[in-house]
Amino acid sequence: MSENASVSPTLSARVLGLAQLGLIVIDTNHHIVMWNQWMASRSGRSAHRVLGQDLFDLYGELRGQRLEQAVLSALQSNLPQQLSPSLSPSPFPLYPAGSWGGERVEQQVSVTPFNEGKERYCLIEVSDISTIVGRERQLRSQAEALRAQSYVDGLTGIANRRHFDVALDRELRRAIRNDGQLSLLLMDIDSFKAYNDHFGHQQGDACLTMVAEAFAATLQRPADLAARYGGEEFGAVLPDTSCEQAALVAESIRAKIASLNIAHSPAATRPHVTMSIGVATFDKDTLNDAAAMLAAADSCLYAAKKAGRDCVIIYRPQDQQETAA
Ligand code: GH3
Ligand code: MG
Ligand code: MG
Repeated sequence: MSENASVSPTLSARVLGLAQLGLIVIDTNHHIVMWNQWMASRSGRSAHRVLGQDLFDLYGELRGQRLEQAVLSALQSNLPQQLSPSLSPSPFPLYPAGSWGGERVEQQVSVTPFNEGKERYCLIEVSDISTIVGRERQLRSQAEALRAQSYVDGLTGIANRRHFDVALDRELRRAIRNDGQLSLLLMDIDSFKAYNDHFGHQQGDACLTMVAEAFAATLQRPADLAARYGGEEFGAVLPDTSCEQAALVAESIRAKIASLNIAHSPAATRPHVTMSIGVATFDKDTLNDAAAMLAAADSCLYAAKKAGRDCVIIYRPQDQQETAA
């Protein structure tokens, strides 16, 4: 083909008709001088009905919107613009070809001014990004679902309540099956409301994270689970651990948290942050389900609070709770 050869008008028209995006050209008076087949089939307005009309009379809803501003400034300053789909979502009332009504086609619009002879025009390209937007929405909702199913606490990075419940249930079934040992710790930071009131919620969050990390690091065995049970409460599932061993673990956690020496509010019982701990151990006759074990550990935790905080109380099946520290 020679360098001067130009595409025939018939070929150009055919290509415009086949293009898989909307092509609109307007002049400086905003009159439509080109409207391709893609636009016709999605707007329900054929080229011969719209040619010569003012684009913003035809679509009054565009007036005052970002698209109108982009076109006006493109015609004035001769600078192209790409409209952000999030700031100006689907400006034209376009619907999938052949399906009237339903959801608008999601649109990405760009505006390109150009000169032809002495005239200035503006090309408006409209792409259908419905598939991309749909996929993004799907990915976002999948990510949300995954987060909901996650086993990690968002603030502290240790296991969350869900993980704790699953682990306790699994280890209980194993203990029942093997006639094995299993202990459970429930712990709660002392006077934490006073901490928040004194230092602010943000520092409260930082304190929770420090306590969580120190507590998790205290557990030695790979099968032990350290979890955030709720607000400022933590739980530990200790498989193959007797009551006496669990009491030692609990005491080492209590001592570890106290030794962090995190300054507490003057309103708290101690000048530094401390934790109270309740301990319960699986018993095949009395404490043989999760609810019973949790209730036992919780009653010990409550007793530890009543005993002055910063201490460990162990559940005894005979209902005699014992202070370990
Ligand atoms: P006690 O010694 O009896 O446990 O007293 P407390 O003040 O710790 O108990 P209370 O249950 O009255 O208060 C718990 C506080 O923990 C209140 C709540 O604002 C705070 N808290 C719970 N979750 C979070 C959290 O995620 N971040 C922060 N900063 N504070 C939290
Ligand atoms: Mg609490
Ligand atoms: Mg507390």
